[in-house]
Order: sequence, then structure tokens, then C-alpha cells
Amino acid sequence: AAAESRATIKPINKAVVHRICAGQVILDLSSAVKELVENSLDAGATSIEIALKEYGEESFQVIDNGSGISPYNFKVLALKHHTSKLLDFRDLQLLTTFGFRGEALSSLCALGDLTVETRTKNEAVATHLTYDRSGVLTGERKTARQFGTTVTVKKLFSNLPVRCKEFRRNIRKEYGKLITLLNGCGSLRDNIVALFGMGTVSCLEPVTVCMSDGCLVEGFVSKSGYGSGRSMGDRQFFFVNGRPVDMPKVGKIVNELYRGANSRQYPIAIMNFTIPTQAYDVNVTPDKRKIFFSDESSILHSLREALENIYSPNQANYHINRVE
Ligand code: ADP
Ligand code: MG
Repeated sequence: AAAESRATIKPINKAVVHRICAGQVILDLSSAVKELVENSLDAGATSIEIALKEYGEESFQVIDNGSGISPYNFKVLALKHHTSKLLDFRDLQLLTTFGFRGEALSSLCALGDLTVETRTKNEAVATHLTYDRSGVLTGERKTARQFGTTVTVKKLFSNLPVRCKEFRRNIRKEYGKLITLLNGCGSLRDNIVALFGMGTVSCLEPVTVCMSDGCLVEGFVSKSGYGSGRSMGDRQFFFVNGRPVDMPKVGKIVNELYRGANSRQYPIAIMNFTIPTQAYDVNVTPDKRKIFFSDESSILHSLREALENIYSPNQANYHINRVE
């Protein structure tokens, strides 16, 4: 004991270690917002809104219409290395693919003031939750909200003095970087890289279908050897003329053809349908996510042919124009 007390090498206080590690997960405003947006996508959100106060210096907020968080998870939500996305050891591969480390919320707690408002389909009202620096739940009250989750972070980096000064001085630059990330850099591929990382892109196959009537389908699907490995449809995003829509029939075709090549996983699919505006009607449901195409069957037919070419390439097909 005497020797120990005279040792000059001492353990660092746990809270300080947590803060330092958190600073390596959350580097700046855009990495913080990106983590929250990824959580919203993971929760199946089809609408994600981002609100900033003072360019994010005062606070930032990500509001989604995803699955919401079950009350059973309120206590463990922001604890370090707690995740709902790792089911067993085989899923460790996903850690590198999508970065499920169960670290984002716990890191944000360590670096700012985290509050969460959430409501699942099973709850009649939403709950407002507050967490302390170590991710321990400190407050819980009922509030009004639609289904989904809002995560708010106030005063990011306020307890890392050097980083905080830098953050405040560069806030316009940080904001610009965030806007670039959110807007993407132009191509769909660049946007996928920005959101999911290079590793994901290399597992995807480009799809392009040109149709004589001016319709164009562009996007990416999982190569037959790689899937998202999670539940059906959780990484499928469809857009018509750049706006997100539900396309269950398209999802069904992708899943069906992919299953013929790989029955162990589920495919990622991200596709934009460029369609002359007179050829579709978005005002079918109030949220405008349901779409009616005037010539749906021919679009679906051409898409099916293109996907057949990817998943069972011996079949001839004249509609395809694959680009690298
Ligand atoms: P990870 O995403 O690596 O699991 P996070 O710290 O980012 O770790 O999130 C912890 C958990 O909190 C997630 O696994 C998920 O269950 C839940 N969660 C976080 N954000 C949301 C959200 N917007 N909607 C639903 N659940 C969420
Ligand atoms: Mg996360």
C-alpha cells in the first residue's frame, strides 16, 4: 500500500475519461448531428427535421417520425455501449459497416445537455427525458408529441474548455460543414458515402433504368453477397423526383429478386425515380408519401428486368445501362 501511494502514475477519474473518449466520438457539430440522423434512419424515420439555435452553438435538435423509444429503454438509453442494434456476435460485422457502437447518446451526454422526447405507437402520450453527464436518467415527465423521437443537445462542448472556444469561434464553418453533409455533395453516391461510409458503398451495385417515356430510375442495391443483415426494408429509401415516398411494390421486387441470390440477409436499396410530373399524383395521402404512377406497371417491369440482371445475370436485358 505504501508503494502504491507513492506511485506517481495514477488512474484518471472515470468521468474525465468518459469526457475525453466522448470527444473522440463527437468531433464537431456535423458528426453530432450525423449520429442523430443515423439513429433516426435506423428507427425507420421517413421524415427527419433538424433545428439549430445560433448555428448549433446554443442547441441542436433532430426530430423524427420513427419507431420511438419504448419506456423499457428509458433508463439504459444513454448509457455507454448500450445499443438495440447488436443482436449477437455475428452482427459485429455491422459495427464497421454502420457504426453501431452504442456510443452516440452517451457521448452527447458527456459533452452537452441531452434531452429526449419520444413516443412509440403503443403509448398514448409522449415522454420527456433528461440525462446527466454519465448518461443516467435524471428526469421523466409526460408531454405531447406525435409518434417518433426528438433528441435535443444544448451547449455542446461547454465542459471541454479548449474545444468549446474553438467550437464557438468556428461555428459558422461548423454550420457550413453540416449543411454540406446534409445537402450531400451532388451525387447520390456521395450522399451515401457521407451517411453510411465508404464500406457500405463498396457493398452496393448501381442500378440505372432508362425508359422511353422519359422515366429514369437511378440508385443502388446491395450486391448479392452483402445485405444489411437486419430486418426487411430497414435500409430501403425511395424517392420520386428527389422527394421521399413509400414504394412497397418496389421494395417487394427488390427483396424477392435479392432473396433468390442471398436468403441470409436483406438488401439495402436506395433509388430515385425521375418521372415527368404529369405522370404521377402525390396528393393521395395527407403526408404525400403515397404516389400513384400513371404507368406503374411498365416502370416496375423495367426495374424488375434491371434487378434480374444484377441478381441472376445470365438473363438478357436491353433496358439496362449500368454505370460505374
Ligand atoms: P447506437 O445507434 O450505436 O445503438 P446510440 O447511442 O446512437 O447507439 O443510440 C442508443 C440506442 O438508442 C439505439 O440503439 C436505439 O435503440 C435508441 N435510439 C437512439 N435514437 C433513437 C431514435 N431517434 N429513435 C428510436 N430509437 C433511438
Ligand atoms: Mg447511433
